[in-house]
Order: sequence, then structure tokens, then C-alpha cells
Amino acid sequence: MKTHRKELWFDLPTRRGFVNITSDVEKALKASGVQEGLCLVNAMHITASVFINDNESGLHQDFERWLEKLAPEKPYSQYAHNGAEDNADAHLKRTIMGREVVVAISGGQLDLGPWEAIFYGEFDGRRRKRVLIKIIGE
Ligand code: ZN
Repeated sequence: MKTHRKELWFDLPTRRGFVNITSDVEKALKASGVQEGLCLVNAMHITASVFINDNESGLHQDFERWLEKLAPEKPYSQYAHNGAEDNADAHLKRTIMGREVVVAISGGQLDLGPWEAIFYGEFDGRRRKRVLIKIIGE
């Protein structure tokens, strides 16, 4: 069995944002040489997500608005976690949007549905953060 490990680094200039990382994951898959297997992609930080959805800007605005209704950033004082930090909302948003995705590898390709794309979701940016890609298979 082959294994391949790759880290992607991010430093978003804004507190929140979504980045399409599908092509980065495809590059890692090509480098792995795996034809049949599984690809795990996970955020290594507790205020960031990896998720799969549509690459459509209106939907991304809808995610932002929906997450702000569920866990508004401000006022910071509404959260018990805030004090030394101001990122309680980011922890909550990350939990809803998920830590990781697992994608099947078939014929050397990511076996995604027609409208599926892989995204990094940042909820407490302006700092360096990592995503882990782990590929296993034959
Ligand atoms: Zn925190």
C-alpha cells in the first residue's frame, strides 16, 4: 500500500473566507501515484474547516450569513470562551462546517460528484494555518 502526506498552508488576510482547494488536492493525488484508495483532507486548527459543496459565490455568501445568524461574531462578550481570545464564534462555525472530508480515489482521480468541490473554510484568519492531506491506497 502506498501512503502520501502533504500539508497546505494558508494565511487569509480576512477573519473569514472560503478557498477552493480542489486543484491542490488533485496535485497531491497525482504526486502520490495512488490509483485506487482514499484521500483524507482535514483542517489542523479548531477554528477552520474543510468541507465539500458547490463552487458558487452566492452560496458562499449564504453560508456567511447563515453562520453569522447561528454564531454571530459580535458582541464578543456573549461567549464564555472569549476573554483572552475573541474567537468563540469561529470555534462554533468550524464545528458546524466540519473538520474533514474523505474522498474516494478511482482510476487515479478524485471520485467527486459533478458539482462537488473541496473548500478550506477560515473563521479566524490573519494567521498561518494548515490543512493535512493524507492519501492511502494502491
Ligand atoms: Zn479560542
